[in-house]
Amino acid sequence: MTQPTLRETLDAHGLSAKKSFGQHFLLDLNVTRKIVRLAGPFEGRAVIEVGPGPGGLTRALLESDAGRVVLVEKDPRFVPLLSELDDGSGRLSIIQDDALRVKEAALVDGPAHLVSNLPYNVGTALLIKWLTGPWTPHALTLMFQKEVAERIVAAPGEDAYGRLAVIAQAVCEARLVMHLPAAAFTPPPKVASAVVHLVPRPDRPAPERLKRLERVTAAAFGQRRKMLRSSLKPLGGGALCERAGIAPDARAETIDLNGFLRLADALDQPAR
Ligand code: SAM
Repeated sequence: MTQPTLRETLDAHGLSAKKSFGQHFLLDLNVTRKIVRLAGPFEGRAVIEVGPGPGGLTRALLESDAGRVVLVEKDPRFVPLLSELDDGSGRLSIIQDDALRVKEAALVDGPAHLVSNLPYNVGTALLIKWLTGPWTPHALTLMFQKEVAERIVAAPGEDAYGRLAVIAQAVCEARLVMHLPAAAFTPPPKVASAVVHLVPRPDRPAPERLKRLERVTAAAFGQRRKMLRSSLKPLGGGALCERAGIAPDARAETIDLNGFLRLADALDQPAR
């Protein structure tokens, strides 16, 4: 028997999008299958999907080589609809909860991918949680509003380069892999979207080093037009820059990841 379309399923359950949950749905399975192809192969590993909503991405994930598909959906209205995708094999799990609160390590046994069309209002907070939290995903394939996606992959000197780029690229190799116009979503949001694929780096900073990197980037980009000797004053200013081998009159937007890591490491060293 052929599956009902996503729109038919939404209608059958009397469901429509709620703004407060950041709901903009992908109802075209060609699009969701493409995102899943960009995210995989999964080779039997588990996939966590945050915010499945009507289940367009979920259907594509269930067609893939994912060993398990674990859904985390905050809006309880979608649970009955998503349960219809369960074939009883134990491959699909549905968790009704806030993804900002769940402990991913408790949801999956081994390495797991994250694949998600994220709600815009909490997309950045979720990314920071996955980049800096105790649980490390195998890879992340995430839809953001286009501006956020650009901030994640930006290079030094670009307008979008800032804290998010430095932290994301310190932890992961990050690539923008797909653009989607607002019209691809139901209802269409006000902005365009893009998918970013992130793979954690084997040499990503240990938690303490990452915390120091967050302190340095928060201060440096908090006043991004100022020279580093001023913006970094609370952390040691010009002396800190000198210990790190960074010109004190440089501005945050010109410093690459390596430079920020040297500044973070120099925080540890005693002032001469
Ligand atoms: N994946 C679906 C799709 O592509 O059609 C829906 C994407 S929609 C942009 C975002 C989804 O995230 C909605 O289903 C919404 O209810 C859910 N959501 C919003 N905030 C959430 C949170 N904090 N934790 C888990 N899910 C959340």
